[in-house]
Parts: sequence; structure tokens; C-alpha cells
Amino acid sequence: GPNSRELLERQREIDSSAVAYPEDVPVAFEEGKGATVRDADGNTFIDMFAGIGVLNVGHANPYVMEAVHEQADKLVHTVDFPTEARLELIEKLDEIAPPGLRGQNRVVFGGPTGSDAVEAAIKLAKYNTGGDGLIAFRGAYHGATSGAMSLTGNKKFKGEYTPLLSDVVHAKYPTPATDSNGDAAALCPRDGGACCESFSCARALREVKEILEDPYGGLANPAGIFVEPIQGEGGVIVPPEGFLTGLRELADANDIPLIFDEIQSGFGRSGQWWASEWYDVTPDIMTTAKALGGVGFPLSATIYHEDLDTWGSGDHAGTYRGHVVAMRAGSRAIEYIQEHDLLAHARDLGEYIRGRLSQVAADNPRILDVRGKGLFVGCEFVDSDGNPDGDAADALQDYCFEHGVLVWKAGRHGNVLRLLPPLVLTEDLAETAMDVVVEGIETVTA
Ligand code: PMP
Repeated sequence: GPNSRELLERQREIDSSAVAYPEDVPVAFEEGKGATVRDADGNTFIDMFAGIGVLNVGHANPYVMEAVHEQADKLVHTVDFPTEARLELIEKLDEIAPPGLRGQNRVVFGGPTGSDAVEAAIKLAKYNTGGDGLIAFRGAYHGATSGAMSLTGNKKFKGEYTPLLSDVVHAKYPTPATDSNGDAAALCPRDGGACCESFSCARALREVKEILEDPYGGLANPAGIFVEPIQGEGGVIVPPEGFLTGLRELADANDIPLIFDEIQSGFGRSGQWWASEWYDVTPDIMTTAKALGGVGFPLSATIYHEDLDTWGSGDHAGTYRGHVVAMRAGSRAIEYIQEHDLLAHARDLGEYIRGRLSQVAADNPRILDVRGKGLFVGCEFVDSDGNPDGDAADALQDYCFEHGVLVWKAGRHGNVLRLLPPLVLTEDLAETAMDVVVEGIETVTA
């Protein structure tokens, strides 16, 4: 509409050239409520990306906003001084912590962004091991600061900024959608070939083992393994059973921490509080951000086993690690998810959404794969020769925007439709949104 177009043009004049949104369909936002947003021309959209997985309890969730207003009028910022809000959030994070960390974790609020939490995790791993070598994975995204960029496994984001951290080695993340029929059992480094179901899992674990243990390669002085339990920006890649367990075993054997980046996959997104729970694997350190701030307040945390709580007072700093309003919002969001059983809702709705996509995929060779857990869903497109098709995902995103549904993309070739709706999405809205997505797929792949 004209108002959106005008705002977009004004933004183009004065904002950074680094801003990113689908350029071809001008949309400027004015108001959000639950799983819908209204643009500057009064059009309503169903929000199927939630600010990149941030608004898990919905835009302006009234239960959260009530506490936000109350807190904002009282006290906003204290750095590390105790407040009820801070202690309440730490207690609630323990309540929802992965079972293996519950009752024995510590939380450090390093700063407002996910990247801050990743930096804290890097420092904590190095501090505790005395090492400097880090293992991460190709296709991973961990953030925009220099340390987090070093872990990111995509040259697009970091190619111009080297040298970064020097001792980072990227192993291949398992890619079940394109698994080969190689002899997985022979390759798997786990006892009895526990990954023999999946060649790509066995190959990934073998590579990590070699990086850690082969005297002719890899890391001289390892400090930790960083991994997204489900890769987000990399294309919503759900690793096969056995991958995280295998990493856990390798981390233990080499006496280094296993670090899960749950910034995108966590806080209920996957239909569990943490994606690691799908695999029953406990990390030593984990990061959370995005949805932690409740209704979009910037807040991140690094949660770690108390045995790693070795920093002295002030050893890791950050001005904004006491944002009381964001902390109140986070606690209320946890309560809201618990009281409305939104994890179960996310699992059910995710199944519905993947079901709709799988139905189209069944006789559409341009869809390579439909995957995900809970409301963390990916649908990968290829061209008629089977090559990654970013243009199809682009065209689909434009189609959806034009038809009132906001969707996002992912994947190293930008060829994955990524759906990350608020967990409060209703069945009716999910159905309307999926009607549009399905029509869009049929249109752009025709
Ligand atoms: N880790 C993961 C897994 C992410 O998805 C992101 C953001 N997409 C980050 C880290 C970085 O978070 P932020 O953009 O808030 O710095």
C-alpha cells in the first residue's frame, strides 16, 4: 500500500544498506497482536516468522505486557544488583532447564543479543579448559560479533573480516535429506556403529573425532564443541538420532565442554523447552536469546553447569545484563507457555503444518524435503535438475507477503522456506496461512 511504500522509501534514503527484508513487496509494520500484524495501510498479515523466532508468546501478549508496563514504571536497569525480577527469571530458567542441568546450573546474562551469549560461552569454555581450539559446523550461524562469526560456518557472513579466531575448525553437519548409502556402520566412531542408520551422521562424528584426536590434524588445544541442536539459518536441519549423543561422547572422551546454541531452537520453538530434549542429551553450556525477552525485548543468557562456575567477580562484564523489564517479560513468557501448554500446542500445530507441506511434496519433485520439530519448520526447494533453488524460495516469500502471510527463508543457498510462527498461532490461522503457502508453492513451482 502507499503508506508502506512511503515508509520504505524514506528508510531506503537514510537507513543502512545492510537492512534486510523482501524488497519487492513493500510492507511497513504498525501494530502486532498475537500471531498477526497490521501494516501502515491497515492490511493484516499472519505472522509465520515472528521476528525470526522471537515472539513465541505472540505480539504484545497481554499477560506479559501487563508486567512490562508495571515494571517499566518502577525500575528498568540495575546492572548486577539483585532484583526480584532477576532472581525470578533465574529460578524459572532452572525450572525449565534441560533435565540434566536442572538444579545444578548457573546463568550469566552477558548482554542483550544472541551474539553476546555466544561470546560468553566461548570465553567460559576457554577459561575452564585453558584451550583455544573450537569445533563448530558448516552451515552454522552463531552471530555477528567476531567470536561468534568465527564459529559461523558460512563465508558469506565472515569472508571479508578475517582474521577472526584462528583455531576454529568446521566439521560437516549431518544432512539427512541428502544422505548417501555409504557404509555408515564402518565409519561411525561410536561403539557398535550406533549411527549406522545415517551415513551423514557417522561421517560428521568421524570428522569431529579426527579433529579432536588425530595427531596429524585438527586442534592442538581444544576448548569445546559448539553446535545448534537443530540448525536454523543453515536451513532448519534436524540432525538424525545419535548425532548429539555422539558429540556428547566425544566431548566427554576429550574432557571439553559441549555447547548447545539454543538461541533459535530453544524457548519452546521446537515443541520442547529446548531442542536438546528431543535427543536426551545434556550440554555443559547453552545459549538462549530471541524469545527469552518475552515480547521482543533484547535479552540473552548463557546457562552452564555449576562445575564451570569458575569466573571471579567481574571477570565477564556487560552493562546491560540487568535489564529488569526484559527479565520480567521473560519470566512472564515462561509462565504463559506453561499455563497454556504451548509446547504441546506447538508439537500438534507443527505436525499439521508439516503434514500440509508433505502433502504437496508427495507429487512435487521441486520439494526436496519437509522437516522440523514443533513450530520450527523447513521446506527445501530444488530446480528441475535437483539443484538448490533459491529463486523458488524468493518467489514463494514474495507470493506469501502479497497474500497476507509473512514467511522467512533459510539455507546456505537461500532455498529453504522457514516457518517460525508464534506458539500462540491458532489452528484457524494456521490453516489460512498454510492455504496461502500451499497455493504459493503450486504457483512458483508450476
Ligand atoms: N545463534 C543462533 C542459532 C541464531 O539463530 C542467531 C540469530 N539468528 C544467533 C546466534 C545470533 O543472535 P543475535 O542476532 O541476537 O545476535
